[in-house]
Amino acid sequence: ATPTALLAGTGRASQLGILIKGPQILEDTRHVDTILLDKTGTVTTGRLAVDTVTALNGRTSAEVLALAGAVEAGSEHPIAKAVVEAARAAGPVPVLADFHSAAGGGVRGTAAYDGGALLTLVAGRTGWLEENGIAPSTAEQAAFKGQQDGGATAIWLAVDGEAAGIVSLRDTVKDSSADAISRLKELGLRPVLLTGDNAAVADRVAAAVGIAAEDVHADVLPADKVAAVRQLQAAGRTVAMVGDGVNDAAALAQADLGIAMGSGTDVAIEAADITVMGSDLHQVVQAIELSRRTLGTIK
Ligand code: ADP
Ligand code: MG
Repeated sequence: ATPTALLAGTGRASQLGILIKGPQILEDTRHVDTILLDKTGTVTTGRLAVDTVTALNGRTSAEVLALAGAVEAGSEHPIAKAVVEAARAAGPVPVLADFHSAAGGGVRGTAAYDGGALLTLVAGRTGWLEENGIAPSTAEQAAFKGQQDGGATAIWLAVDGEAAGIVSLRDTVKDSSADAISRLKELGLRPVLLTGDNAAVADRVAAAVGIAAEDVHADVLPADKVAAVRQLQAAGRTVAMVGDGVNDAAALAQADLGIAMGSGTDVAIEAADITVMGSDLHQVVQAIELSRRTLGTIK
């Protein structure tokens, strides 16, 4: 396509709420044959809700929810927002003292419960607990796995080095995702689901939107999202990646075409070639259709 046509294409795109970093990027879309989709916030709404709270080691579920809410108050993650919301709805949430978060892992901080001593709180995935020297018992791990197998996104809460509870959350697939993904397939793109969440949840979401079971990558740490992109590229694929989170930024940069959802974080938008302003995957379809039309590869 001529520079003028490309420029006109980016202009058209911006009217549709699709921001393209430069005319040349439209050319990059030409060979894309694989589209990696982040699950949380991209395929699903990312607005999770707390489903059940399991108390362990003599704690009460009120205590577990309040303390989980306290430590998650420092995080912007969709899981954190849901936990804080549920905790606040249930009662007073202890004030968080120091705070640390690990992308794709969890959070750590200190807070006191009900006027008691300062407690060390760790919340997140099993690997994050292990990194903090906490080892849930076999029975506790079975309870955790039971929640995951039931299709929930489960996180641990540990207090002073010991498992204290499990918080199970549920997310919903966006109404538009299945249709948008079937259109991406019509455009010749193979959809692949990429998530840090567990396999049971990932498989359920993939089945709901028409992504093949073999194209589901679950339990992927943020650093491994980049590796997943590289692996597909090494296999000769030209990869577009759609994401919205801080933990997606490196993979968006590594992809041949990085697409950020506008509802996402600034870091993701910064790393991407294209930003769609809404939160609907149909805009990703539009972006790809538009570039192909601009390049004259479809009518
Ligand atoms: P996704 O790929 O679905 O966007 P992330 O990479 O952000 O997921 O997170 C992967 C996993 O890490 C989550 O499913 C959760 O188990 C854990 N995790 C990440 N952030 C937090 C947090 N703030 N609190 C608890 N757990 C977290
Ligand atoms: Mg995400």
